[in-house]
Amino acid sequence: MKATLAPPSSLISLPRHKVSSLRSPSLLLQSQRRSSALMTTTASRGSVAVTAATTSSAEAPREGIAEFYNETSGLWEEIWGDHMHHGFYDPDSSVQLSDSGHREAQIRMIEESLRFAGVTEEEKKIKIVVDVGCGIGGSSRYIASKFGAECIGITLSPVQAKRANDLATAQSLSHKVSFQVADALDQPFEDGIFDLVWSMESGEHMPDKAKFVKELVRVTAPGGRIIIVTWCHRNLSQGEESLQPWEQNLLDRICKTFYLPAWCSTTDYVELLQSLSLQDIKYADWSENVAPFWPAVIRTALTWKGLVSLLRSGMKSIKGALTMPLMIEGYKKGVIKFGIITCQKPL
Ligand code: SAH
Repeated sequence: MKATLAPPSSLISLPRHKVSSLRSPSLLLQSQRRSSALMTTTASRGSVAVTAATTSSAEAPREGIAEFYNETSGLWEEIWGDHMHHGFYDPDSSVQLSDSGHREAQIRMIEESLRFAGVTEEEKKIKIVVDVGCGIGGSSRYIASKFGAECIGITLSPVQAKRANDLATAQSLSHKVSFQVADALDQPFEDGIFDLVWSMESGEHMPDKAKFVKELVRVTAPGGRIIIVTWCHRNLSQGEESLQPWEQNLLDRICKTFYLPAWCSTTDYVELLQSLSLQDIKYADWSENVAPFWPAVIRTALTWKGLVSLLRSGMKSIKGALTMPLMIEGYKKGVIKFGIITCQKPL
């Protein structure tokens, strides 16, 4: 079934009528354009971590990421729906599997992120959005409906892009949203186009955080806003050069299954944004608010339906399920932090 979902080409390009309906027709692919050289940050701790992120994985495991999501997205959608991200809960809340609380918590994650970034007050300004690492397009469709905006999603997974476009058509949103396979580190868009640059839980996959941030900034319109919601490791203390070996070991085990390169901290992101003179930089640790999420995912995997679907879905899904307890351990021990970082590009 998965194979039939995969489109023949590695790139699903935007239908022409959608491109021309966008504010800037120059959104057309520029496959020859390359991002410029790696950025460095002057802050000492930031530069340690960012350098680690840039050198530990010279080549992004793009094929691995694409295959992972090609294989696992159907299962996720079957059980959890079209949002492939954590839910946002009140701290210490208990949500039953049977109720709609988790779906609501995932929508709330989008709403809280927009609110934190102050986007709700700017609704009229949000005309065109890029959803970087879009999954099957849950955020794009939600944001497009909320703001009446145009939204373009990019993912490495052809299966996800196809499914996201199909869902947009089924929901009569295909005039507003579209999805394609493209690399977040080399986006097929011209400079300064998007009013909102949205990255919901994709940053953790980026092997070069500096290049990632620089690319987000490049495509943002002057006065536009960037929202990055991502898995981070804890901030290093004064004088600490790296995580403790046991902490690194825990993250390494998670990296293998979820196709993640080296992690960085929220502070590293903030320092990268500061080094690019972004404005109104805000960040928060939402680890407490996402705490109920992984236990709930594990409980769904252990239901009869979950187990059967898991077995049908394949080894990547099974390995993913077996890695989930490590995420809980990481949060409990304070190694993993769920961070939101937002800023505005100067006019
Ligand atoms: N934001 C979505 C999906 C999160 S899953 C949601 O909230 O539902 C992570 C997503 O990041 C996947 O779609 C994956 O394909 C994408 N991704 C990872 N690395 C990427 C890269 N280099 N370029 C584009 N997308 C990437």
